[in-house]
Amino acid sequence: MEVIKVVPSGYCKGVINAINKVKQAIKDYPDKQIYILGMLVHNKYVVGGFNLHNVITLTDENKTKEQLLDEIDDGVIVFTAHGIDPKIKQKALDKGLIVVDATCCDVTKNANLCIQHLKEGYDVAYIGKKNHPESDAVLALSDKIHLITNCEDVKKSNILNEKILITNQTTMSINDIDNIIKALLDKYPLAKVVEEICNATRTRQQAVKELEGFDTLIVVGDPKSNNTTQLANIGKQAKIKNIYKIENSLELTSINLDNIDKVAVTAGASTPSYLTKQVIEYLKTKDEQYLNVDFKKILDL
Ligand code: SF4
Repeated sequence: MEVIKVVPSGYCKGVINAINKVKQAIKDYPDKQIYILGMLVHNKYVVGGFNLHNVITLTDENKTKEQLLDEIDDGVIVFTAHGIDPKIKQKALDKGLIVVDATCCDVTKNANLCIQHLKEGYDVAYIGKKNHPESDAVLALSDKIHLITNCEDVKKSNILNEKILITNQTTMSINDIDNIIKALLDKYPLAKVVEEICNATRTRQQAVKELEGFDTLIVVGDPKSNNTTQLANIGKQAKIKNIYKIENSLELTSINLDNIDKVAVTAGASTPSYLTKQVIEYLKTKDEQYLNVDFKKILDL
């Protein structure tokens, strides 16, 4: 079987930065409990890798981030690559916690763009995913930021301001965003557009788009990862016949690999490089040693 690793794929600069910041905090504060408010990046193996270092990831679907923070009185609190509501960050500082902000610079740039336009009197039509931590952090800035998840939301929207900024979450699909922006411009012709899909997302999606006509694509990543989901969607739109979304190499054992001559492998920006290597090595060799996950290697960059 010919195995092609799609380039670029896997860890982006924002994820590498976030992992390095937590690794540094482990070194800097050996006597402090370190907490991460939400998943540092959307991959549960990364959470498991940090568990080995006694780093606690705070998640509870029934609690807000603020409620989770309220339960912490001491130690180090890490804010994730997706960004954080500035009011929560301030609350952590006021509580005397040591704050490590791992927000990706591209996410910060987008938040600053929104803040600047709010100051100039704009409303913001923000194209993003509902209940995603990145969109949640931006929406928390002001009720003048309106979440648009699809073209249906555009129809339902009713932004009365003449000054409107159209922008978006950094990990949206390069295929879908144009339609939503077009629908917004049809409804709000004077709106200003600043499209903000980050370079890492764009180049990973473009690389999958170029596989058009390919028979089989394997996408390695966590089901919660938006950029991983988008890679599979782009693959479908590129008419790749068989697309398998898997989290680890073990899941390959439930796929019939016998009739596959050529396979492309890509990975979300938050997928540990180690897991993608395991998948590629198993596909090449069928050696069962590549089916076992060694959590000590998960945080290798
Ligand atoms: S996907 Fe883009 S915005 Fe998100 S962490 Fe990576 S570089 Fe930053």
